[in-house]
Parts: sequence; structure tokens; C-alpha cells
Amino acid sequence: MKASADLLLLPQWVIPVEPEGALVEHAVVVADGRIVDVLPADAARARYAAAETVNLPGEALIPGLVNLHGHAAMSLFRGFADDRPLMAWLTGHIWPAEKKHVSETFVRDGTLLAAAEMLAGGITTCNDMYFFPRAASEAFLQAGMRAVVGMIVLEFPSAYAADADGYLAKGLALRDEFKGERGLGFAFAPHAPYTVSDASFSRIHTLADQLGLPIHTHIHETRDEIADSLKQYGVRPLERLARLGLLGPNFIGVHAVHVTGSETELLAEHGCHVAHCPTSNLKLASGVAPVAEFARAGVGLGLGTDGAASNNRLDLFAEMRLAALLAKGVSGDAAAMPAPAALKAATLGGARALNLEGEIGSIAAGKRADLVAVNLHGVSRQPVFDPVSHLVYVAGREDVTHVWVDGTPKLKERRLVGLDADDLAARAAYWRTKLTAGGQS
Ligand SMILES: [Zn+2]
Repeated sequence: MKASADLLLLPQWVIPVEPEGALVEHAVVVADGRIVDVLPADAARARYAAAETVNLPGEALIPGLVNLHGHAAMSLFRGFADDRPLMAWLTGHIWPAEKKHVSETFVRDGTLLAAAEMLAGGITTCNDMYFFPRAASEAFLQAGMRAVVGMIVLEFPSAYAADADGYLAKGLALRDEFKGERGLGFAFAPHAPYTVSDASFSRIHTLADQLGLPIHTHIHETRDEIADSLKQYGVRPLERLARLGLLGPNFIGVHAVHVTGSETELLAEHGCHVAHCPTSNLKLASGVAPVAEFARAGVGLGLGTDGAASNNRLDLFAEMRLAALLAKGVSGDAAAMPAPAALKAATLGGARALNLEGEIGSIAAGKRADLVAVNLHGVSRQPVFDPVSHLVYVAGREDVTHVWVDGTPKLKERRLVGLDADDLAARAAYWRTKLTAGGQS
């Protein structure tokens, strides 16, 4: 007798990500939101009676991409202030606009817009950091997208909280309320060493250890950040966090652009992870993270888009390609970050950083069915010698045809399921008018 299943996927290739570079011409069987088997198509048809079969000729099936760093709601700031360096961009444009406009509604609308963009581009999990994380949590749940929501902490007041204790208390209360929700996780998200005090970092370190949660923070993004830290604290930011005990396997350092050889060793020794955001680092003229050295030293590596205000796409296909090319260009080594390593960073690397590698990040029996089908049969993608190479160097997010999260379809034949694109565009237009009017909140 055949075993029953919900879904039988028949792609041309399955790219499981682990083992690295592996490729099989197999079927994937899904039941109750999980991958239950990966086996040859004939054997799958003989063994399973599936409620639905999806034929994907000429397509590659990959694990859902993991966006290891973003500020989803900032999709409403896409193209709002371009072509400026980080501090001028933050203090002259982003922070004043946030002060004036950011609210529960802004975050819900912006996060939904970002979730739709990410899902349509094959991103099924994101690690988010922004104000009003309750509104973001609700938006991710509504979109049916897996997310790790940041419990953001800064010292300065905002419409969301008055001080670091207020941010922490609100974040912890939110986690208590939402931690049972399927697909939703939480991380501590102290914004950056230049916006968070030693006392707050110490408290977060203690709480993260007690609760077994990741710590997600921007680090060594610009040269100025390091110079200011030397002036104020007498040490570079990473050294400061190391002294406070923050570095460990639960530490996700975002950017890590300006990192010395000994700092790379420090990150590796402590089992830390880096969220590499190459487009954002280029656009804000911050520099290029030394990812070839990270790989040599064994620092965990994931890829992030950062917010749409500094990218301006939430597109991990673009980040994979750029990361692979930049790694070669700055190291002078064409073998730096080969295609399988770029795909691994965008999937399993992010999953490991979030401590979710037992659930997502590769295609294996027992893992959640977060799956993405990518069309490799158009003329611009022929011939296909190596589908893994094509995913990184040829394909784009527009080639994503189907997306499932927990075995539930989120994109079918390039059409979003359960999200109304017209409604999202109308909400974005509403906020553009408000932001352009400059303060009529
Ligand atoms: Zn960021």
C-alpha cells in the first residue's frame, strides 16, 4: 500500500545544498509541512500517493533562501535617499523620517510589502530588525513567511520606546506572547556598538544565554565607527564586545567590513557568524567584507539584503552573485567563494546562524518543506552544464516560479498566493505621498 503525502515535486534537478555542490535528479515528497523523502521519481510514484503533483521540467529545486539581515519595514523607504554615506544618510534622512513617520501601521504595511517581495524572490526566512516588532510579527504571520524577529535595543528614544530598558521590556513581552507561533522566532537585536551602551550589551548577553537566543547586531560597518569607538572606549567595537562576553556561537555580526586578521580569528574562535550584505556595503561606500578570509578561518557566513533603503532590492540572487564576484575581485583569487559556497551562504549558512539548521537550510528528509523552484530552461539560461553555477551566475529572482513555506504554496507560476499585490502597491503609494509631503503624519 502506498503512503499518503500532500505534495510530490518533480523537478529536473534537486540541489540539496548539503553535501556542498551535490545535485540529484530526484523527486521530493512533502507531508504535514515537512520533507519526508528525496528519491528517484519512479520510486516516489510507486511508494507515495500524493494529493498534489507538481511537474517542474527544466527547473531546479533549492531550499528556501535565508535573508540573514534586513529591516523589512524599510521597504517603504526604497529610493527615498540614495547616494550618501552611512552617517549622513542616517542622521540627515533616515532617522528624521523614521522619527516623523514610523508607527505600528507603517511597520505592518512595510513588512508585508517586504515579505511579498522576498517570497516572490525565493526568500522563505528572514532575520529582521526594526521598531514596532509586534507589527512586523503580525505581518510575517499574515504573509506566512518564516521570520526571526529582532527585539531591537537602542539607547535613544523613538515612538516605539523611551530607553534601552523600555525596548528590552517590550521585546521580551512580545516574545512571551508570540513564541508559540509557528514560523516565528526571536533574537536580541542591539542596533550597533555606537547606539548601545556597555550596560545594555551586558544585560542582553545574560538574557541571550538564559533564553538560548541569537544576538543580532551591526558591527564594523564603517571606518568611522571604529575610529569613534577608539576615541570613546579606547578599543575597537569587536574588542569591546569580546570583553563584554558577547562573542559566541549565538552572535550574528552584520557587515563586518573592516576586520583585521586577528579579529577574523577572534570571530572564528568564538564560533560567531557574519551576515554579509555586499550590496548595502557598496551602496553606502562602506567597503567590502573579507569573506575569503572568513571562509579560510571558518567563520560562519550568511547573506543579507539589509533594508531596501540601502540596497534597494530584497534580492538574495543578486547578493549571491555579487558576493561571489566581490570575493574574487578583492582577494585576487578566482576560486574564492565558488558558486556552491555562495548558495550555501544564502541557505544553510543563514540557517546555522539562526540556530535553525535542524529545520531549514537544506533539502533533507525531516526538515521543513521550505522549497523554491527556479526555471533554468529559458534561452538566456542555455546550455545548462552545472545548475549550481547557473543559480549563482545566471539566474535571477525573476526565474523563481514556485515557493513553498512549510509545504504551503506562497508563489505559484510566479503569482503570489494569499497576498494582494494591488493592495500592497496602494499602501506603498500612500506612504510615498506622506513621506514626500515631509511630515504630515
Ligand atoms: Zn542593517
